[in-house]
Amino acid sequence: MKSSRIVIIGGGFAGVKCAKTLRKSLPRDKYEIVIFNRENHMVFHPLLAEVAGASVNPDAVAAPLRQMLPHVRCRTEAVQKIDLDHNYVEYESHDGQMRQMAYDHVVIACGGAVNLGMVPGMADHAFPLKTIGDAMALRAHVMQQLEKAEVCDDVARKRWHLFANFEITQAASSSPCQDDEMARDECLATLAHCL
Ligand SMILES: Cc1cc2nc3c(=O)[nH]c(=O)nc-3n(C[C@H](O)[C@H](O)[C@H](O)COP(=O)(O)OP(=O)(O)OC[C@H]3O[C@@H](n4cnc5c(N)ncnc54)[C@H](O)[C@@H]3O)c2cc1C
Repeated sequence: MKSSRIVIIGGGFAGVKCAKTLRKSLPRDKYEIVIFNRENHMVFHPLLAEVAGASVNPDAVAAPLRQMLPHVRCRTEAVQKIDLDHNYVEYESHDGQMRQMAYDHVVIACGGAVNLGMVPGMADHAFPLKTIGDAMALRAHVMQQLEKAEVCDDVARKRWHLFANFEITQAASSSPCQDDEMARDECLATLAHCL
């Protein structure tokens, strides 16, 4: 009997849990499971702020999909189109060519996308925080501002580097009792030590 192919799009919490559960419960000779994810790892988002703050290394929040998902075919490619009428997905392959893969079942677990356009001006001034690349870019920016503040003789400019640059528009915390205001106060208190 020909095996059925299940294609999962997205290797975040939802896609990985789905792949693990299906792989555990479905026989390998009857069901092939393929997971598409833009990156070859799953990101543990709750610790991204710590990566940006340099208290946690990036590799600690990146779980390699191939290690986590034995007997699941992991594809580091972005799906561009799902044809629900003809049961195939289209993806950009390693050589830039568009290719198709037929499926019997498809699971869409693409998560959300950062939208900095929701607050006027945010796209021009804010940093997104969704990927490890985002966290590293933010880390580099914070370090740069602190370093500039450290060598700056002009007190007003020094304060600008330390305070005016940082505005927390939304705090995502793994601690349920820590609200946005507390996070902001803590952050400002830490920066104040640098003055
Ligand atoms: C900074 C931050 C902190 C957070 N902290 C918490 C917390 O403390 N507690 C909590 O409960 N939640 C927290 N969240 C929310 C939580 O991370 C999300 O709810 C969760 O990640 C959603 O999982 P998901 O699998 O649906 O999507 P995602 O984790 O976004 O995964 C989707 C994956 O699909 C991939 N993908 C998307 N489109 C395609 C495509 N076309 N082709 C191939 N791949 C694709 C993406 O690259 C991504 O890897 C936080 C989120 C962020 C950003």
